[in-house]
Order: sequence, then structure tokens, then C-alpha cells
Amino acid sequence: MLKELREIVQQVTASSDLNDAMNELVRQTRHAMQVDCCSIYLRQPHKQNYLLAATDGLAASAVGRAKIPLGEGIVGLIGDKEELINLADARSHPKFKYLPEAREDAFISFLGAPIIHQRTTLGVLVVQQKQERLFEEGEESFLVTLASQLATVIAHAEAKGNLLSPNWHGVLRGLAGSPGVAIGRAWVWRPRVTFDQVKARKSDDAQLQHARLNKVLIQVEDELNGMALRFQESQSSESVAVFEVYQYILKDPMFISLIRAEIDQGWIAGSAVKRVCEQQISQFGGMTDPYLRERAADIRDLGQRLLTRLIHEDEGMLTLSLDKPIILVADEISATLIAEIPPNKLKGIVSAKGSINSHAAILARSMGIPAVMGIDHTFELLEDRTLIVDGYNGDLLVEPVPSVLREYRRLIAQEEQMDELFASTRLEKAITLDGMPVSLLLNAGLSADSDVSSNDTVDGIGLFRTEIPFMMRDRFPSEQEQVIGYRRVMASYVGKSVCMRTLDVGGDKQLPYFPIVEENPFLGWRGIRLTLDHPEIFLVQLKAMLRASQGLDNLSIMLPMVTNLDEVRVARRMLDRAWREVSDETAEQKGEIRYPSLGVMIEVPSLLYLLPDLAPLVDFWSVGTNDLTQYLLAVDRNNGRVANIYDAFHPAVLRALQQIFDEAERYGKPVSICGELAGDPIGVLVLLAMGYRRFSMNNSNIMRIKYIVRQSRFDELQKLLQEVLNQQQVGIIKDLFGRYLEERGLGGLLRGPR
Ligand code: PEP
Ligand code: MG
Repeated sequence: MLKELREIVQQVTASSDLNDAMNELVRQTRHAMQVDCCSIYLRQPHKQNYLLAATDGLAASAVGRAKIPLGEGIVGLIGDKEELINLADARSHPKFKYLPEAREDAFISFLGAPIIHQRTTLGVLVVQQKQERLFEEGEESFLVTLASQLATVIAHAEAKGNLLSPNWHGVLRGLAGSPGVAIGRAWVWRPRVTFDQVKARKSDDAQLQHARLNKVLIQVEDELNGMALRFQESQSSESVAVFEVYQYILKDPMFISLIRAEIDQGWIAGSAVKRVCEQQISQFGGMTDPYLRERAADIRDLGQRLLTRLIHEDEGMLTLSLDKPIILVADEISATLIAEIPPNKLKGIVSAKGSINSHAAILARSMGIPAVMGIDHTFELLEDRTLIVDGYNGDLLVEPVPSVLREYRRLIAQEEQMDELFASTRLEKAITLDGMPVSLLLNAGLSADSDVSSNDTVDGIGLFRTEIPFMMRDRFPSEQEQVIGYRRVMASYVGKSVCMRTLDVGGDKQLPYFPIVEENPFLGWRGIRLTLDHPEIFLVQLKAMLRASQGLDNLSIMLPMVTNLDEVRVARRMLDRAWREVSDETAEQKGEIRYPSLGVMIEVPSLLYLLPDLAPLVDFWSVGTNDLTQYLLAVDRNNGRVANIYDAFHPAVLRALQQIFDEAERYGKPVSICGELAGDPIGVLVLLAMGYRRFSMNNSNIMRIKYIVRQSRFDELQKLLQEVLNQQQVGIIKDLFGRYLEERGLGGLLRGPR
């Protein structure tokens, strides 16, 4: 049976069309189980019934017509009870309901299994037989296994397949790329020249081809410079960093010399670009790290730009002219495409490919344009239809009904008012209404290598993630390369503290030149575990940080993934050594290097039990709530299937946070929060109530969190927390603190992604 089961599952999951998959499944299952009939009933939520969707054995004419109302018949009962039913004679069951159009009368025994996906019943899978008999245990488990496989296929098809009709309206679910809501008409973009359109051709004039390449390289560089300039004037440095990456690829001698080598092999310039880009795209596209995987998109975009230029050599600037604001919809949206659209014409973004790490998403966030990524669909039928982009929840609403449109319009109006409010206090101090000062710090380093600028709205950098400069290269960066990068960050924050975290690769962050293959990467060789095993890498990084801090004296250093005290002791010894060596080397030059404060991230639960022993070894600690939640609750923070269990408001996490704060107080250690919880409107209130005063978060959260702090009273928050401290239900704390926000007119913030 196992062999048959595998074959059915393989064929069904390989099928690109749901109807084909279901027809195949009923046919093969009937054969494999040697029964007289196999059918699938699908639940139609809006119509309150189960519809016969496929059968091998019942009347074919009943497919798509025969219906069983919810809660009726044995099929309805299986759906309600969410369990298998096995009957030797179905006719004698009180729920039995005869479907005349299906010509069911010949069948007596009945075995049905619910088709359930993520706790939702999608339908029922049934086999029937003319002979009266109870089905065997093996047959039961065979059917249950098939039903569970079918559930995934149906759920996927439902998410993907609905746009087949031009009049379809409803919701498509993707990923929240950039928060906010936009309403507008779809404008579907297709690349001007794709790689597929370029036929591989040879030329016997390599010199001419090199000259053509040189010309377009200059043109595209000019275009990119123009775009970067535009963003420099109007947007944050994050956006500029996006274009720096493009320019970096364009100037990468390796990339260009590969193209030149292809020309020398006899290919025309266009073919050479295509061949090199395709090869690099497949290389990056196959990487496990999501950030690096996204770089394939950058190369594709650049390659298509070069090709467009090569094919339309004599055309002037390629610009898009639009007469009305649009929602940009495309298979893959690049940062340069966004840059080509006049900012006042771009309301929202929808991309089939890409994730929250793609440059398009980073750029959209920095421009404040709502974006939904990863809606895996062919978009042709969306052209000019009304869309709502819900960038909070990652939803795309197609042709919404008037009441939904009204509701979203109201949300947009509310949001505009709130943005004005938040901006009005951007330069004010973060202080509660009853006079409690709070430090707001920046989490930086994630987007490319230069997303920090002197930021007068924050008190410093609470977490600088140093991984990205390591990931963006094809080898470990040299000490001097690191010094330059770190110095730029520290120099932007003169007089404010900059907390640099030592390399935290492993887990979901891989270096392309240092692959780590592990069964459980989040429980593996990650963070400090890896760097302590490689003192040559660790020492270089520590020295680079120290050198970069010379004369600025604003550096502190933080260790990630600490599990044992010995890790801290060894790291401290390394820091001592790095400091001595760097100090000796620089002794002749003017100015000494200040010994930085050293702290740890509290993100592995073992440290909760070691805080009294940890205290004498470090100068501060900072809570990484992202990993602490992951490890306390044993939930992979990147696994969508268990995302509903990943909850930083879980009573166990909250108690841990209270304990960490209390012990920091007891031992006189400064403590901050640098996980996502600090930038969460409810999270920050709960943490304030616990006593926390230092919060480090992404740039996009700073203004609203500052506003929230300024609208709150510490004494009230403390009282609220007392009320719920011993509650064990997850929702209560959120409800209570959510109400607190609502009472201050900030309820709209609760829609935001958490
Ligand atoms: C954390 O774990 O909360 C944290 C801030 O670090 P990262 O998200 O980089 O793992
Ligand atoms: Mg972490």
C-alpha cells in the first residue's frame, strides 16, 4: 500500500491544476483500495454546503452540481466532527442523505475522512463499496493520509487559482512588505526585455561588442546615479544603500570580466550579458539565506536594464509616463523600477516574487509606500482593476465591495492623521506624561551596509547587526574594510552610544563562502559559538571595532547567542587582547583607544538562570526578544506553519522579561530590549510597565513609539500590569494594553504587523 500511496501523492502534488489533481486522486485511489467509488466533496464556505468536486464511481454529471448542506448527511457530519467515519451500511445511519443526481443507491459501505488544512475543514474524501463491510484499519489510515496530502494541494490551489475568471473578486494573501494601506487601480508592468527574448547569437567582431557593452555600462551607471541622487535628496539613507548595491554589482570587476570573457568567446554583447546573468541568478537563487537569495533579483534587474539598453541603443532615457497614480503590480518589482515611477504617482506595490528582505520592500518601507510581496500569481487579469493593498497584513483585495472600500478609506484617513501626529513630536524627548524619561535607540545594519545616518530622533544605536557586510562579499572582509564601515556608523553618532554586535551568522544567516550545513541550524553553530571557534575571525572583528572607535569613544560591544558563562569569559579575554594589541600599535599616534563596555544578548533561556553569575562578567545586557521567544517556546521564528504559536506575549516570555529586568536592577546592570517587541505599540507599553527604559528598534518604528511613550503614564501602566501579571491567558495582556492605546486615540496602531 505504501508504494501506491507514494505514487498517488507524487502525482497529485505534481499536478498544476486542482481539477486534474482531484480527478487523478479519485481514479487512483479507487484502483489502489479496490473500492467501487471514490469522491471528493469540497466545502464552499460562502454557500454553506459541500459540493461534489470529483468522483470515480458516482455519476460524472453530478460533479459540480450535487450539493450537501453543511451539517447534513454523513459528509456534513464528518466535516462537523472533524473525524473519520467508517460504516458497514451507510443507509442505516440516521444522518444518511441520498443524493439522487449522483446515483448513489448502489453503494452500501462508506468510509469518509475530513480534508483539513491548518485547522480548517476544506472538504471530505469518501470511498464507497457495493458490498456491506467495515473498512479495515489499514484502509482507514490510507484514506486519512491521502486526505491530509490533498488538503495542502487544495489550500495551495485556493490561494493561487482564483483569479482565473476575469470577474473574480476577493482577497489574495501574500507577505506584508511595507506597512500601510493603499487603494487604487492596478498597473501591471512587464519588463521591456527579458532574458527569454534574447536569442543567443555570435559575432565575429568582438571589438565592436566590447564597445557596445562599454557604452551601455556608462548609460546604465548614469541612470543609477540619477536615481540614487533623487533618493539622496528626498529619502532616507536606506534607499540610497539600495542603489549602492546596484552600483556595486555594476562595478564589480568579476561580474564585468565574466561578461567580457563571453564576448571574447564570440558572443554578441546581449548574449554575453544574458549568459552571465542567468548563471549568477541561478547561483544566488539557490542560496539558503533569504537576504542573499534576494540578490538574484538585483542581478536580473540590472541584466534586463543592460539588455534593454543594448536592444534600444539609440533611444534616449527610458522613462515611464503615467497620468494618474497607480498600484504597481509586477511579477518581480525591482528597486530601479520603483525609482522610475514619479513618487506622486506610486500609491502601492504588489509583487509576485520577493519577500520582506527584497530591496523593493526595503525601499517601499523607507518611502512609506504600502507593499505586499509574494502573491504568487499571474497578474494579467488585474490590469486596471481596483485594488486595496493592505501592507499590514499582506493582503491584496481585488475589486472590493463598497462597504470594504469605505472601511479602508476610513483607515487611510485615520492613518494620515496619525502620521501627522507622530511627525509632530519627532524631535521631542521620549518622556512619559508623568515624567519618566525613556531612551529610544536604533536597530541598524540590516539593509546593505550603510543604512545609518546621523539620526536626531534617537539616542544612539542599540543594536548594529554586523552580518550584512560579511554576507555581501565573497570572502571575509579585511580588518581595514571593517574599520571603514564601522567608523562610518560611529562617526554618524558622535556623543551617542553605538552598540555593535559581534558576528551572528549561522541559523538562517549564511555566508556564501563559509557554508554551514546542519540539521538544526538554529540550535547549531551560531553567533558566539562560531566566532569563539574562529579566533582569527573574532579578533579581526574586535580590533576593527576598536580601531574604528578611536577618538569617538562611543563604542560598546555585544555578544550574540551566549549560552554559557565561559563563552563570556573567553570573549572578554579576547577583547582584552585585541584592545592591548590595538592600543600598542596606536600608542605612537595621538589619542588612545577607550576600552569599550561589553554586554551580552539575552536570547538563550539558559541565561535566565545564570544572571547573578553573569552580572560580574559584563557591563550590560540587552534582550533579544526575537530569539528568546523562539527558544523559550521552541518555535522556529521563520516557520509560517507555527507562526500562530510564536508569541512574545506568551505568559512565559513575559515572566522571563520581568525577571531579566528585576535582576538587572538588583545587580545594577543597564538593560535594554532590542528585539521586535520594543517596536510594537503594545509591547513597549508592557515593557515600560515592567520597568524597562531603553528600547532599540527599526527606524520605521521610532516616531510612533516616541509618540506612544509621550501619551502614556508610567503609574497607570504599572497598575495595569499588576492586574494581569498572574494571568495565564495569552490574549488578556494584549487586550488590556490595547484598550489603553485605544483610549488615547491610538487604536489604529493595533492593525500594524506584529
Ligand atoms: C533578537 O534575537 O531579538 C535579535 C535582536 O537578534 P536577531 O533578530 O538579529 O537574531
Ligand atoms: Mg537574535
